[in-house]
Amino acid sequence: MTAQVDTTHSRIPSATPSAPPSRPVPAPRPGSRALVPAWWRDAVGVATWASALFVAALWVAGGGVQDIARGGAAALTTLGRLTGLVSADLLLIQVLLMARIPMVERVYGQDELVRRHRLVGFWSFWLMLAHIVAITIGYAAGVGLNPLVQLWELVVDYPGMLLATAGTAALVMVVVTSIRKARRKLRYESWHLLHLYAYLGVGLALPHQLWTGQEFLANPIATAYWWTLWAAAAGAIVVFRLALPIYRSLAHDLRVERIVPETADIVSVVMSGRRLDRLDPLAGQFFNWRFLAGRGWMRAHPYSLSAAPNGRTLRITVKALGDGSRELADVKPGTRVLIEGPYGRLHPGVRTQRRITLMASGIGISPMRALLEAIPADPGDLTLIYRARDARDLALRDEIDELSRENGARVVYVLGRRLPGRDTWLPESASGLSDAQALKQLVPDIAEHDLFICGAAPWMDAAAAAARECGVPDRRIHLEQFSW
Ligand SMILES: Cc1cc2nc3c(=O)[nH]c(=O)nc-3n(C[C@H](O)[C@H](O)[C@H](O)COP(=O)(O)OP(=O)(O)OC[C@H]3O[C@@H](n4cnc5c(N)ncnc54)[C@H](O)[C@@H]3O)c2cc1C
Repeated sequence: MTAQVDTTHSRIPSATPSAPPSRPVPAPRPGSRALVPAWWRDAVGVATWASALFVAALWVAGGGVQDIARGGAAALTTLGRLTGLVSADLLLIQVLLMARIPMVERVYGQDELVRRHRLVGFWSFWLMLAHIVAITIGYAAGVGLNPLVQLWELVVDYPGMLLATAGTAALVMVVVTSIRKARRKLRYESWHLLHLYAYLGVGLALPHQLWTGQEFLANPIATAYWWTLWAAAAGAIVVFRLALPIYRSLAHDLRVERIVPETADIVSVVMSGRRLDRLDPLAGQFFNWRFLAGRGWMRAHPYSLSAAPNGRTLRITVKALGDGSRELADVKPGTRVLIEGPYGRLHPGVRTQRRITLMASGIGISPMRALLEAIPADPGDLTLIYRARDARDLALRDEIDELSRENGARVVYVLGRRLPGRDTWLPESASGLSDAQALKQLVPDIAEHDLFICGAAPWMDAAAAAARECGVPDRRIHLEQFSW
């Protein structure tokens, strides 16, 4: 069942009412590794807080509270230690958050992980600055030195401190280039390369804890804790970011089978390989891909699966936005492909409701097309809203129409130029409607639906805001950002 928004009048087609919502929600694909119990999320959250509290407890056990009570230089120095320890703990947690540990990745998904990584990163950074200031002033006050002279002595005389200074400089650079305003000025490649210096920063900044850190040296429990945390962070990076992707790439021997042009600037890449069922990807998830042709191997690009995985082939659909995506049109069949993944939580397993609305704009259709195929639904339970500027920009349209005929999904193409001067998910033709009114008109019972959204970031924000206004709770809005 398909409809097309009238682009010449401020009208949006009204929906036909669907069946009552009381029937049970169909299971997505029992047994898939990507489906995780809800309590995992709590377990990861509790583990994070527990580690910071444990570090604070070690500080208390080392006489931190008594030192505060003494006031003056002792209080400043001990506060410097506490801030340094919590900062180091958060720094390692930050590394763990981005190490693609399957349990953590499946619980949070990419967008949430990036958000948490950012939050923890900035906290760690401010605590690190507080640590440097408090320790310097505390030491200086203790021996009656000028704080600047004391800082110099700390850097040149104490073991590990020159390395720590270099590490701090690397971390400052990473943080400065991660501030949104600065980040927008950089190309993704440049920003990503600079961001890798964070590993160097962590590696250089932390050893001074081993050589000069009082808590670390005095208490065997503390020593065991910190060694375990360092080993876990380093091990997670080696195992999940290096060894596992290399193993999977070799074991599945993925090769380009064919390239299919979809629109003037969109192509699909179909790849085949050995035992792809064992990768266990779900529709809507993404991989980071490296095509071993030209310069393609140098940088991994994230692309979502645009067809439900069938165990024999994987397919992505890509819009040419820059060098990497443009080169895909010329990749030859037989080209080897390296993969990291599957990742992401935009899959049927996050579903909680019987009825589902998929909202896509532009190339955001890619994972939505796969979900349209894979989500088990009765006729009328599934609605796809596909926003594009022009009918010529609609990718995968024939497949979408065919799927909707098979599974009874409603498909609404919302076409037309962007409405100027308003943050909206609507085209110009719907200027007479608010974002929420239009959504409600299309899907009157939207408040009862799970909503999956993918597209350009501002469009997604507007669509999610409209859904919230219509009564869809945040926990039922599932997003995948295509931009960084
Ligand atoms: C989880 C996820 C899934 C995605 N799925 C698809 C998909 O199915 N189809 C599709 O066409 N595109 C998808 N993208 C976007 C795609 O990754 C980028 O368009 C592509 O990497 C651009 O690379 P480039 O060298 O061609 O362009 P560049 O010139 O390097 O950049 C063009 C634009 O893409 C963004 N970009 C570049 N590299 C990345 C990166 N590694 N991560 C995020 N954004 C980046 C930049 O911000 C820039 O605005 C997805 C992105 C993410 C994060």
